Amino acid sequence: MIQNEAPVIANSLWTATAHPAPRSTPLTGPEEADVAIVGGGFTGLSAALHLAEAGISVVLLEAEEPGWGASGRNGGQVNPGLKDAPDAVEAQFGAEAGRRMIRMSGGAGQLVFDLVRRHGIECDAQEVGWIRAAHTPKSRAEFHDLADQWQRRGAAVEPLGAQDVTDLIGTPVYCGGLIDRRGGNLHPLNYALGLAAAARRAGARIYGQSRATGLERAGAGFRLSTAGGQVTARRVLLCTNGYTDGLRPPLARSVIPVRSVQVATAPLGDLGETILPGRQAPSDSRRLLLYFRRDAAGRFIMGGRGAFSDGGTARQLAALRQVSEQMFPQLKGVSWDYAWGGFVAATADHYPHLHLLEDGLMAGLGYNGRGVAMGTAMGKVMADWVLGTPVSALDFPVTPVKPVPFHGFRKLGVTAAIGGYRLLDALGL
Ligand SMILES: Cc1cc2nc3c(=O)[nH]c(=O)nc-3n(C[C@H](O)[C@H](O)[C@H](O)COP(=O)(O)OP(=O)(O)OC[C@H]3O[C@@H](n4cnc5c(N)ncnc54)[C@H](O)[C@@H]3O)c2cc1C
Repeated sequence: MIQNEAPVIANSLWTATAHPAPRSTPLTGPEEADVAIVGGGFTGLSAALHLAEAGISVVLLEAEEPGWGASGRNGGQVNPGLKDAPDAVEAQFGAEAGRRMIRMSGGAGQLVFDLVRRHGIECDAQEVGWIRAAHTPKSRAEFHDLADQWQRRGAAVEPLGAQDVTDLIGTPVYCGGLIDRRGGNLHPLNYALGLAAAARRAGARIYGQSRATGLERAGAGFRLSTAGGQVTARRVLLCTNGYTDGLRPPLARSVIPVRSVQVATAPLGDLGETILPGRQAPSDSRRLLLYFRRDAAGRFIMGGRGAFSDGGTARQLAALRQVSEQMFPQLKGVSWDYAWGGFVAATADHYPHLHLLEDGLMAGLGYNGRGVAMGTAMGKVMADWVLGTPVSALDFPVTPVKPVPFHGFRKLGVTAAIGGYRLLDALGL
Protein backbone atom coordinates (compact mmCIF):
# COMPACT_ATOMS: atom_id res chain seq x y z
CA MET A 1 0.00 0.00 0.00
CA ILE A 2 1.13 3.56 -0.65
CA GLN A 3 1.30 5.22 2.76
CA ASN A 4 -0.69 8.42 3.35
CA GLU A 5 -2.68 8.03 0.13
CA ALA A 6 -6.40 7.81 -0.65
CA PRO A 7 -7.37 4.09 -0.41
CA VAL A 8 -8.84 4.00 -3.94
CA ILE A 9 -5.38 4.61 -5.47
CA ALA A 10 -3.14 3.12 -2.76
CA ASN A 11 -2.94 -0.60 -3.68
CA SER A 12 0.20 -0.35 -5.81
CA LEU A 13 1.91 -3.26 -7.50
CA TRP A 14 5.18 -1.38 -7.26
CA THR A 15 5.11 -0.85 -3.48
CA ALA A 16 4.14 -4.53 -3.08
CA THR A 17 7.13 -5.69 -5.16
CA ALA A 18 9.78 -3.04 -4.37
CA HIS A 19 13.14 -3.88 -2.85
CA PRO A 20 13.18 -3.12 0.87
CA ALA A 21 14.52 0.39 1.39
CA PRO A 22 15.59 2.07 4.61
CA ARG A 23 13.00 4.58 5.80
CA SER A 24 14.64 7.97 5.43
CA THR A 25 15.01 10.19 8.46
CA PRO A 26 13.33 13.58 8.67
CA LEU A 27 15.35 16.77 8.74
CA THR A 28 16.03 17.96 12.27
CA GLY A 29 18.01 21.09 12.97
CA PRO A 30 19.93 23.32 10.59
CA GLU A 31 21.65 22.12 7.39
CA GLU A 32 23.73 23.92 4.79
CA ALA A 33 24.38 22.96 1.20
CA ASP A 34 25.32 24.45 -2.15
CA VAL A 35 21.99 23.28 -3.52
CA ALA A 36 18.67 22.35 -1.89
CA ILE A 37 16.21 20.26 -3.89
CA VAL A 38 12.50 20.00 -3.10
CA GLY A 39 10.86 16.76 -4.28
CA GLY A 40 12.23 13.21 -4.32
CA GLY A 41 10.95 11.88 -7.64
CA PHE A 42 12.93 11.24 -10.83
CA THR A 43 13.51 14.97 -11.44
CA GLY A 44 14.83 15.78 -7.98
CA LEU A 45 16.74 12.51 -7.57
CA SER A 46 18.39 12.81 -11.00
CA ALA A 47 19.42 16.40 -10.21
CA ALA A 48 20.75 15.30 -6.80
CA LEU A 49 22.70 12.42 -8.31
CA HIS A 50 24.26 14.45 -11.13
CA LEU A 51 25.20 17.26 -8.73
CA ALA A 52 26.59 15.02 -6.01
CA GLU A 53 28.67 13.17 -8.61
CA ALA A 54 30.09 16.52 -9.69
CA GLY A 55 31.18 17.25 -6.11
CA ILE A 56 28.39 19.73 -5.25
CA SER A 57 26.91 19.50 -1.74
CA VAL A 58 23.20 18.69 -1.98
CA VAL A 59 20.30 18.40 0.46
CA LEU A 60 17.03 16.95 -0.87
CA LEU A 61 13.75 17.39 1.00
CA GLU A 62 10.89 14.98 0.27
CA ALA A 63 7.51 15.39 1.98
CA GLU A 64 6.98 11.59 2.22
CA GLU A 65 9.61 9.10 0.99
CA PRO A 66 11.76 9.13 -2.18
CA GLY A 67 9.61 7.76 -5.00
CA TRP A 68 6.35 8.40 -3.11
CA GLY A 69 4.90 10.64 -5.87
CA ALA A 70 4.26 9.75 -9.48
CA SER A 71 7.81 8.41 -9.86
CA GLY A 72 7.08 5.37 -7.71
CA ARG A 73 3.61 4.73 -9.15
CA ASN A 74 3.77 5.09 -12.94
CA GLY A 75 3.60 2.63 -15.80
CA GLY A 76 7.39 2.35 -15.92
CA GLN A 77 7.32 3.08 -19.64
CA VAL A 78 10.50 4.76 -20.82
CA ASN A 79 9.17 7.11 -23.52
CA PRO A 80 11.69 9.15 -25.53
CA GLY A 81 10.71 12.41 -27.24
CA LEU A 82 8.18 15.16 -26.61
CA LYS A 83 4.46 15.14 -27.36
CA ASP A 84 5.02 17.21 -30.51
CA ALA A 85 6.92 15.71 -33.43
CA PRO A 86 10.50 16.92 -34.09
CA ASP A 87 9.54 19.13 -37.09
CA ALA A 88 6.91 20.90 -34.97
CA VAL A 89 9.41 21.39 -32.11
CA GLU A 90 11.89 23.04 -34.48
CA ALA A 91 9.16 25.17 -36.03
CA GLN A 92 8.00 26.39 -32.62
CA PHE A 93 11.34 26.88 -30.84
CA GLY A 94 13.64 27.62 -33.79
CA ALA A 95 16.31 25.44 -35.38
CA GLU A 96 18.97 25.74 -32.67
CA ALA A 97 16.84 25.47 -29.50
CA GLY A 98 14.59 22.93 -31.21
CA ARG A 99 17.57 20.75 -32.12
CA ARG A 100 18.77 20.75 -28.52
CA MET A 101 15.30 19.82 -27.22
CA ILE A 102 15.04 17.02 -29.76
CA ARG A 103 18.47 15.69 -28.85
CA MET A 104 17.72 15.88 -25.12
CA SER A 105 14.23 14.33 -25.27
CA GLY A 106 15.19 11.76 -27.92
CA GLY A 107 18.17 10.69 -25.79
CA ALA A 108 16.24 10.71 -22.51
CA GLY A 109 15.56 6.96 -22.63
CA GLN A 110 19.24 6.27 -23.22
CA LEU A 111 20.08 8.43 -20.21
CA VAL A 112 17.76 6.31 -18.04
CA PHE A 113 19.20 3.00 -19.23
CA ASP A 114 22.78 4.35 -18.88
CA LEU A 115 22.12 5.44 -15.27
CA VAL A 116 20.60 2.04 -14.50
CA ARG A 117 23.69 0.30 -15.89
CA ARG A 118 26.26 2.67 -14.41
CA HIS A 119 24.79 2.51 -10.90
CA GLY A 120 23.76 -1.14 -11.00
CA ILE A 121 20.12 -0.24 -10.28
CA GLU A 122 18.04 -3.42 -10.05
CA CYS A 123 14.75 -2.34 -11.58
CA ASP A 124 13.99 -4.95 -14.28
CA ALA A 125 14.97 -2.43 -16.97
CA GLN A 126 14.27 -3.75 -20.47
CA GLU A 127 15.46 -1.80 -23.54
CA VAL A 128 12.94 -3.51 -25.80
CA GLY A 129 11.28 -0.47 -27.40
CA TRP A 130 8.12 1.56 -27.00
CA ILE A 131 5.16 0.79 -29.27
CA ARG A 132 2.79 3.59 -30.31
CA ALA A 133 -0.40 1.79 -31.37
CA ALA A 134 -2.85 3.51 -33.75
CA HIS A 135 -6.57 3.13 -33.17
CA THR A 136 -7.54 4.84 -36.47
CA PRO A 137 -6.02 5.09 -39.99
CA LYS A 138 -5.51 8.82 -39.33
CA SER A 139 -3.39 8.17 -36.24
CA ARG A 140 -1.49 5.42 -38.10
CA ALA A 141 -0.55 7.97 -40.78
CA GLU A 142 0.56 10.39 -38.02
CA PHE A 143 2.74 7.71 -36.40
CA HIS A 144 4.27 6.80 -39.76
CA ASP A 145 5.08 10.46 -40.37
CA LEU A 146 6.56 10.69 -36.86
CA ALA A 147 8.74 7.63 -37.52
CA ASP A 148 9.90 9.25 -40.75
CA GLN A 149 10.81 12.50 -38.94
CA TRP A 150 12.86 10.61 -36.32
CA GLN A 151 14.53 8.44 -38.97
CA ARG A 152 15.61 11.59 -40.82
CA ARG A 153 17.40 12.50 -37.57
CA GLY A 154 19.08 9.10 -37.34
CA ALA A 155 16.88 7.63 -34.58
CA ALA A 156 15.83 3.96 -34.43
CA VAL A 157 12.10 4.51 -34.89
CA GLU A 158 10.25 2.27 -37.36
CA PRO A 159 6.72 2.36 -38.79
CA LEU A 160 4.54 -0.69 -38.11
CA GLY A 161 1.72 -2.09 -40.24
CA ALA A 162 -1.43 -3.70 -38.86
CA GLN A 163 0.00 -7.22 -38.85
CA ASP A 164 3.26 -6.10 -37.17
CA VAL A 165 1.40 -4.42 -34.37
CA THR A 166 -1.00 -7.35 -33.96
CA ASP A 167 1.94 -9.75 -33.67
CA LEU A 168 3.86 -7.56 -31.23
CA ILE A 169 0.91 -6.79 -28.95
CA GLY A 170 -1.21 -9.90 -29.35
CA THR A 171 -4.54 -8.23 -30.13
CA PRO A 172 -6.05 -7.24 -33.50
CA VAL A 173 -7.58 -3.97 -32.23
CA TYR A 174 -4.88 -1.66 -33.62
CA CYS A 175 -4.30 -0.86 -37.27
CA GLY A 176 -0.59 -0.02 -37.20
CA GLY A 177 1.77 2.35 -35.43
CA LEU A 178 5.48 2.58 -34.76
CA ILE A 179 8.17 1.12 -32.58
CA ASP A 180 10.66 3.46 -30.96
CA ARG A 181 13.65 1.24 -30.21
CA ARG A 182 15.14 3.83 -27.82
CA GLY A 183 12.39 3.16 -25.27
CA GLY A 184 11.48 0.30 -22.98
CA ASN A 185 10.23 -0.27 -19.47
CA LEU A 186 11.31 -0.75 -15.87
CA HIS A 187 10.03 -1.10 -12.30
CA PRO A 188 9.55 2.59 -11.53
CA LEU A 189 9.72 2.48 -7.74
CA ASN A 190 12.87 0.38 -7.79
CA TYR A 191 14.35 2.83 -10.32
CA ALA A 192 13.52 5.77 -7.99
CA LEU A 193 14.90 3.95 -4.95
CA GLY A 194 18.03 3.05 -6.95
CA LEU A 195 18.54 6.69 -7.97
CA ALA A 196 18.14 7.74 -4.31
CA ALA A 197 20.68 5.12 -3.17
CA ALA A 198 23.15 6.18 -5.89
CA ALA A 199 22.71 9.86 -4.97
CA ARG A 200 23.30 9.06 -1.28
CA ARG A 201 26.43 7.05 -2.16
CA ALA A 202 27.68 10.08 -4.10
CA GLY A 203 27.17 12.25 -1.02
CA ALA A 204 23.65 13.74 -1.35
CA ARG A 205 21.77 14.11 1.95
CA ILE A 206 18.18 12.99 1.38
CA TYR A 207 15.54 13.65 4.03
CA GLY A 208 12.12 12.01 3.92
CA GLN A 209 9.00 13.09 5.82
CA SER A 210 10.33 16.62 5.43
CA ARG A 211 7.86 18.83 3.59
CA ALA A 212 9.32 22.22 2.74
CA THR A 213 6.81 24.65 4.19
CA GLY A 214 8.71 27.91 3.80
CA LEU A 215 11.08 29.33 1.18
CA GLU A 216 12.64 32.73 1.68
CA ARG A 217 15.68 34.71 0.62
CA ALA A 218 18.62 34.50 3.04
CA GLY A 219 21.68 36.54 2.10
CA ALA A 220 22.94 35.48 -1.32
CA GLY A 221 20.82 32.32 -1.21
CA PHE A 222 17.67 30.85 0.31
CA ARG A 223 16.34 29.32 3.50
CA LEU A 224 13.93 26.39 3.29
CA SER A 225 11.96 25.45 6.40
CA THR A 226 10.40 22.14 7.38
CA ALA A 227 8.53 21.19 10.56
CA GLY A 228 11.79 20.00 12.11
CA GLY A 229 14.59 22.06 10.62
CA GLN A 230 15.98 24.48 8.06
CA VAL A 231 18.29 24.30 5.07
CA THR A 232 20.26 27.24 3.73
CA ALA A 233 21.55 26.93 0.19
CA ARG A 234 22.79 29.21 -2.58
CA ARG A 235 20.46 27.61 -5.10
CA VAL A 236 17.13 25.82 -4.87
CA LEU A 237 15.58 23.41 -7.38
CA LEU A 238 11.82 22.79 -7.20
CA CYS A 239 10.97 19.32 -8.54
CA THR A 240 7.42 18.72 -7.35
CA ASN A 241 5.48 18.17 -10.63
CA GLY A 242 1.86 17.00 -10.04
CA TYR A 243 2.32 17.37 -6.26
CA THR A 244 3.32 21.05 -6.39
CA ASP A 245 1.90 22.81 -3.34
CA GLY A 246 1.79 26.45 -2.27
CA LEU A 247 5.54 26.76 -1.58
CA ARG A 248 5.96 29.16 -4.54
CA PRO A 249 2.39 30.12 -5.42
CA PRO A 250 2.45 30.80 -9.19
CA LEU A 251 4.05 27.40 -9.83
CA ALA A 252 1.06 25.36 -8.65
CA ARG A 253 -1.20 27.36 -10.96
CA SER A 254 1.03 26.71 -14.00
CA VAL A 255 0.13 23.01 -14.15
CA ILE A 256 -3.05 20.97 -13.81
CA PRO A 257 -2.68 17.88 -11.63
CA VAL A 258 -4.54 15.03 -13.30
CA ARG A 259 -5.00 11.52 -11.92
CA SER A 260 -3.62 8.60 -13.90
CA VAL A 261 -4.51 5.10 -12.70
CA GLN A 262 -3.54 1.49 -13.30
CA VAL A 263 -4.73 -2.04 -12.62
CA ALA A 264 -2.64 -5.22 -12.59
CA THR A 265 -3.41 -8.93 -12.67
CA ALA A 266 -1.79 -11.79 -10.82
CA PRO A 267 1.17 -13.37 -12.72
CA LEU A 268 -0.35 -14.92 -15.88
CA GLY A 269 1.94 -17.90 -16.46
CA ASP A 270 1.29 -19.71 -19.77
CA LEU A 271 -2.07 -17.94 -20.12
CA GLY A 272 -0.29 -14.71 -21.05
CA GLU A 273 2.19 -16.14 -23.55
CA THR A 274 0.65 -14.35 -26.54
CA ILE A 275 0.27 -10.97 -24.81
CA LEU A 276 3.27 -8.75 -25.57
CA PRO A 277 5.64 -11.68 -26.15
CA GLY A 278 8.57 -9.27 -26.64
CA ARG A 279 7.63 -7.35 -23.47
CA GLN A 280 7.42 -3.96 -25.24
CA ALA A 281 5.28 -1.34 -23.51
CA PRO A 282 2.61 0.12 -25.82
CA SER A 283 0.61 3.27 -25.45
CA ASP A 284 -2.16 4.02 -27.93
CA SER A 285 -3.40 6.99 -29.92
CA ARG A 286 -6.70 7.57 -28.15
CA ARG A 287 -7.06 11.05 -26.70
CA LEU A 288 -7.75 9.30 -23.38
CA LEU A 289 -4.85 7.02 -24.04
CA LEU A 290 -4.42 3.50 -22.77
CA TYR A 291 -0.93 2.32 -21.82
CA PHE A 292 -0.16 -1.25 -20.93
CA ARG A 293 2.63 -3.78 -20.41
CA ARG A 294 3.70 -6.94 -18.60
CA ASP A 295 5.94 -6.82 -15.52
CA ALA A 296 8.94 -9.02 -14.76
CA ALA A 297 6.72 -11.65 -13.08
CA GLY A 298 4.38 -11.80 -16.09
CA ARG A 299 1.50 -9.75 -14.67
CA PHE A 300 -0.54 -7.67 -17.13
CA ILE A 301 -0.81 -3.96 -16.28
CA MET A 302 -3.29 -1.54 -17.90
CA GLY A 303 -3.29 2.21 -17.30
CA GLY A 304 -5.41 5.20 -18.27
CA ARG A 305 -6.86 8.48 -17.12
CA GLY A 306 -8.41 8.65 -13.62
CA ALA A 307 -11.05 11.03 -12.29
CA PHE A 308 -10.84 13.72 -9.61
CA SER A 309 -13.35 12.03 -7.33
CA ASP A 310 -12.72 8.68 -5.65
CA GLY A 311 -16.07 7.34 -6.98
CA GLY A 312 -15.21 8.36 -10.55
CA THR A 313 -11.73 6.85 -10.17
CA ALA A 314 -13.21 3.54 -8.97
CA ARG A 315 -15.37 3.49 -12.13
CA GLN A 316 -12.29 4.21 -14.27
CA LEU A 317 -10.43 1.31 -12.64
CA ALA A 318 -13.35 -1.00 -13.45
CA ALA A 319 -13.37 0.31 -17.05
CA LEU A 320 -9.63 -0.46 -17.40
CA ARG A 321 -10.23 -4.08 -16.33
CA GLN A 322 -13.10 -4.32 -18.79
CA VAL A 323 -11.19 -2.89 -21.77
CA SER A 324 -8.25 -5.21 -20.99
CA GLU A 325 -10.55 -8.23 -21.16
CA GLN A 326 -12.04 -6.98 -24.44
CA MET A 327 -8.60 -6.58 -25.98
CA PHE A 328 -7.24 -9.83 -24.57
CA PRO A 329 -10.15 -12.28 -24.02
CA GLN A 330 -7.78 -14.75 -22.33
CA LEU A 331 -7.75 -12.35 -19.33
CA LYS A 332 -11.42 -13.07 -18.53
CA GLY A 333 -11.61 -14.59 -15.07
CA VAL A 334 -8.05 -13.72 -14.00
CA SER A 335 -7.49 -12.18 -10.59
CA TRP A 336 -6.98 -8.39 -10.66
CA ASP A 337 -4.75 -7.96 -7.61
CA TYR A 338 -3.75 -4.29 -7.72
CA ALA A 339 -5.30 -0.89 -8.48
CA TRP A 340 -3.48 2.37 -7.86
CA GLY A 341 -2.66 5.78 -9.27
CA GLY A 342 -1.21 9.20 -8.75
CA PHE A 343 -1.01 12.71 -10.15
CA VAL A 344 0.67 13.76 -13.37
CA ALA A 345 1.16 17.46 -14.17
CA ALA A 346 -0.51 18.61 -17.39
CA THR A 347 0.50 21.88 -19.07
CA ALA A 348 -1.55 24.06 -21.40
CA ASP A 349 0.97 23.74 -24.27
CA HIS A 350 1.69 20.00 -23.65
CA TYR A 351 5.41 20.75 -23.20
CA PRO A 352 7.37 20.25 -19.97
CA HIS A 353 8.41 23.56 -18.42
CA LEU A 354 11.69 24.83 -17.04
CA HIS A 355 11.44 28.12 -15.11
CA LEU A 356 13.94 30.45 -13.53
CA LEU A 357 11.61 31.83 -10.86
CA GLU A 358 14.20 34.25 -9.55
CA ASP A 359 17.95 34.44 -9.39
CA GLY A 360 19.09 31.07 -7.98
CA LEU A 361 15.66 29.42 -7.95
CA MET A 362 14.72 27.00 -10.74
CA ALA A 363 11.72 24.69 -11.29
CA GLY A 364 11.28 21.80 -13.76
CA LEU A 365 7.89 20.16 -14.16
CA GLY A 366 4.90 19.43 -16.42
CA TYR A 367 5.73 16.14 -18.14
CA ASN A 368 2.13 15.47 -19.15
CA GLY A 369 2.30 11.85 -18.07
CA ARG A 370 5.68 11.16 -19.66
CA GLY A 371 8.24 11.88 -16.98
CA VAL A 372 10.18 8.63 -16.53
CA ALA A 373 12.66 9.59 -19.24
CA MET A 374 11.94 13.34 -19.39
CA GLY A 375 12.00 13.88 -15.61
CA THR A 376 15.36 12.12 -15.41
CA ALA A 377 16.66 14.26 -18.29
CA MET A 378 15.21 17.48 -16.85
CA GLY A 379 16.93 16.80 -13.53
CA LYS A 380 20.22 16.58 -15.43
CA VAL A 381 19.50 19.86 -17.24
CA MET A 382 18.84 21.54 -13.87
CA ALA A 383 22.14 20.12 -12.59
CA ASP A 384 23.88 21.50 -15.71
CA TRP A 385 22.53 24.95 -14.82
CA VAL A 386 23.93 24.70 -11.28
CA LEU A 387 27.25 23.54 -12.72
CA GLY A 388 27.52 26.70 -14.80
CA THR A 389 25.80 26.18 -18.16
CA PRO A 390 24.19 29.52 -19.04
CA VAL A 391 20.40 29.49 -19.26
CA SER A 392 20.59 30.25 -22.99
CA ALA A 393 22.73 27.16 -23.64
CA LEU A 394 20.70 24.62 -21.63
CA ASP A 395 19.26 21.64 -23.48
CA PHE A 396 15.72 22.80 -22.60
CA PRO A 397 14.43 26.38 -22.95
CA VAL A 398 13.73 28.41 -19.83
CA THR A 399 10.32 30.08 -20.08
CA PRO A 400 8.35 32.41 -17.80
CA VAL A 401 5.74 30.87 -15.46
CA LYS A 402 2.29 31.22 -16.98
CA PRO A 403 -0.61 30.43 -14.67
CA VAL A 404 -3.23 28.31 -16.48
CA PRO A 405 -6.30 30.55 -17.08
CA PHE A 406 -9.27 29.71 -14.83
CA HIS A 407 -7.07 27.39 -12.78
CA GLY A 408 -9.64 27.48 -9.96
CA PHE A 409 -12.14 25.80 -12.32
CA ARG A 410 -9.67 23.12 -13.47
CA LYS A 411 -11.71 20.18 -12.17
CA LEU A 412 -14.75 21.28 -14.17
CA GLY A 413 -12.62 21.98 -17.25
CA VAL A 414 -10.75 18.68 -17.16
CA THR A 415 -13.93 16.70 -16.48
CA ALA A 416 -15.65 18.37 -19.44
CA ALA A 417 -12.62 17.80 -21.69
CA ILE A 418 -12.45 14.13 -20.69
CA GLY A 419 -16.13 13.70 -21.56
CA GLY A 420 -15.52 15.28 -24.98
CA TYR A 421 -12.40 13.20 -25.61
CA ARG A 422 -14.25 10.02 -24.65
CA LEU A 423 -16.88 10.78 -27.28
CA LEU A 424 -14.30 11.55 -29.98
CA ASP A 425 -12.40 8.34 -29.14
CA ALA A 426 -15.61 6.33 -29.28
CA LEU A 427 -16.36 7.82 -32.70
CA GLY A 428 -12.83 6.95 -33.88
CA LEU A 429 -12.07 10.59 -34.69
C1 LIG B 1 -0.34 6.26 -12.74
C2 LIG B 1 0.74 6.96 -13.49
C3 LIG B 1 1.27 6.37 -14.62
C4 LIG B 1 2.30 7.00 -15.33
N1 LIG B 1 2.92 6.32 -16.34
C5 LIG B 1 4.02 6.85 -16.92
C6 LIG B 1 4.79 6.09 -17.84
O1 LIG B 1 4.51 4.91 -18.07
N2 LIG B 1 5.85 6.69 -18.44
C7 LIG B 1 6.22 7.98 -18.14
O2 LIG B 1 7.19 8.48 -18.72
N3 LIG B 1 5.54 8.70 -17.21
C8 LIG B 1 4.48 8.17 -16.59
N4 LIG B 1 3.83 8.86 -15.62
C9 LIG B 1 4.32 10.21 -15.27
C10 LIG B 1 5.58 10.16 -14.42
O3 LIG B 1 5.41 9.27 -13.36
C11 LIG B 1 5.90 11.57 -13.89
O4 LIG B 1 5.95 12.47 -14.98
C12 LIG B 1 7.23 11.62 -13.16
O5 LIG B 1 7.31 10.61 -12.19
C13 LIG B 1 7.42 12.98 -12.52
O6 LIG B 1 8.56 12.92 -11.70
P1 LIG B 1 8.86 14.11 -10.72
O7 LIG B 1 10.08 13.77 -9.98
O8 LIG B 1 8.92 15.39 -11.48
O9 LIG B 1 7.59 14.22 -9.76
P2 LIG B 1 7.02 13.18 -8.68
O10 LIG B 1 7.58 11.83 -8.85
O11 LIG B 1 5.54 13.30 -8.65
O12 LIG B 1 7.66 13.71 -7.32
C14 LIG B 1 7.29 14.94 -6.75
C15 LIG B 1 7.59 14.80 -5.26
O13 LIG B 1 7.57 16.09 -4.66
C16 LIG B 1 7.18 15.92 -3.31
N5 LIG B 1 6.78 17.22 -2.80
C17 LIG B 1 5.79 18.03 -3.24
N6 LIG B 1 5.77 19.18 -2.53
C18 LIG B 1 6.78 19.09 -1.62
C19 LIG B 1 7.29 19.96 -0.60
N7 LIG B 1 6.72 21.17 -0.36
N8 LIG B 1 8.34 19.56 0.14
C20 LIG B 1 8.93 18.34 -0.08
N9 LIG B 1 8.49 17.48 -1.04
C21 LIG B 1 7.44 17.85 -1.80
C22 LIG B 1 6.05 14.88 -3.40
O14 LIG B 1 5.85 14.23 -2.17
C23 LIG B 1 6.56 13.96 -4.51
O15 LIG B 1 7.20 12.80 -3.99
C24 LIG B 1 2.77 8.28 -14.91
C25 LIG B 1 2.22 8.87 -13.77
C26 LIG B 1 1.22 8.22 -13.06
C27 LIG B 1 0.67 8.88 -11.83
